Amino acid sequence: MAVDIVSDGRATWAASSPSMTFSGFTLARSGIFEHVWQGEPVEATAFRLPSAIIHALGGTPYALLYVPAPSQAAPLSGLLLFWRNAPVPALMTLQIPLLAASVARLLAARRGTAREAIVRNQFLDLFESVPAGIVLIDGDGVGAAVNERAAELLDCPPGRLRAADIAGPMRALRQRCDNHAALEQAYAAQVGNVNFAATLNWTLGERTFEVDTHPVRGNGEHGRIWLFTDVTADLLMAAELRRLASSDPLTGVPNRRHFEECSAQIIAAREAQGHAVAVLMVDVDHFKKINDTHGHPVGDEVLKVVARRCREALRDRDLFARFGGEEFIALLSAPAINEVPVAAERLRSAIAAEPITVGGTRIAVSISVGAAIGEALPGGDQPLLEELVARADEALYQAKTEGRNRVRMADPVSA
Ligand code: GH3
Ligand code: MG
Ligand code: MG
Repeated sequence: MAVDIVSDGRATWAASSPSMTFSGFTLARSGIFEHVWQGEPVEATAFRLPSAIIHALGGTPYALLYVPAPSQAAPLSGLLLFWRNAPVPALMTLQIPLLAASVARLLAARRGTAREAIVRNQFLDLFESVPAGIVLIDGDGVGAAVNERAAELLDCPPGRLRAADIAGPMRALRQRCDNHAALEQAYAAQVGNVNFAATLNWTLGERTFEVDTHPVRGNGEHGRIWLFTDVTADLLMAAELRRLASSDPLTGVPNRRHFEECSAQIIAAREAQGHAVAVLMVDVDHFKKINDTHGHPVGDEVLKVVARRCREALRDRDLFARFGGEEFIALLSAPAINEVPVAAERLRSAIAAEPITVGGTRIAVSISVGAAIGEALPGGDQPLLEELVARADEALYQAKTEGRNRVRMADPVSA
């Protein structure tokens, strides 16, 4: 009977002849090794054996021999030999060193197999439990493993496949991607390059997968892993956070920070170069009075309507934002010069033409607009924007002093 004993003192039967079923036991309670083995058979009465063994021996007189067969991982392991009707044959005693060596080999092999099985099971658990589709191409390029998530995405069976059978579904999925052309171009670099590695987004309609591929080494050969991670929710969340960070919570139109970022980009864009660009500053007339008369919450509703009407009065490609308080700003890109006062007048009349109704109360509202026109020139994005805003603000001030509810154009810049 071979006993496999781990360092914490738990023992299990590795083999038994004749075969018997014993449960494991702890050394602390059995006392098998309280006696230092001298290489001689020891009478069983000298041991406190686990009751399962005593029961199995059935009370018959027996001799017992413990043959230590330590393996690296189990230094206490060995072989328990029982003889009914002792004594132990002399020949047997002579063979003890040989026996010990073969038992040690047997136990080490058994442990090795058990360890391999554990590692394999852990790998399979990991393979199926990670929240990603995995395609693993073996180093020999012949075999492949596909987990459930990848199989679902690729529309192929999961498990072990031939690498050749996975190439088709992978290509088909890539071809279904909206960004198929860009992907083909990026993966062209993989041809003939075993070290190719890339992380690219595959866009499939509403869903986006981050696809990571890199070489993996196994048995000295290059295998390859493909990891598919669904990043749709992450991207939507990031877009929503960007939207919240860039829009005004009251009116829903872009905020000043977003306006400044976008308008700088618009002005610096190559298409804008040499074209006109105009800034319209909008300020609600006597807004303080509206607040004082109807209350702040009604003032808020008025601001929402002003923002909506202004947005609707502009072209889609014009940028419109809340600049702060009851002030709004618009950037018209590449307008014809005579279009600018027309656009400003459209804003003014969009507000003045029809009172704003809040909770059944009709409130007459008007705005004043100051407009400034400039020309987008290479390298002149930020100073131009600041200059246009300042000039539009001056024109707005002029509109206010001249009686409000009117549009004023800033003087052209003198060369
Ligand atoms: P003017 O015609 O010269 O522009 O007069 P005005 O009363 O509009 O100008 P003023 O700058 O004195 O007042 C702006 C007011 O706008 C003051 C402020 O309390 C109010 N305001 C700023 N932001 C908000 C807001 O988000 N909601 C409301 N209800 N009022 C706001
Ligand atoms: Mg103001
Ligand atoms: Mg005002």
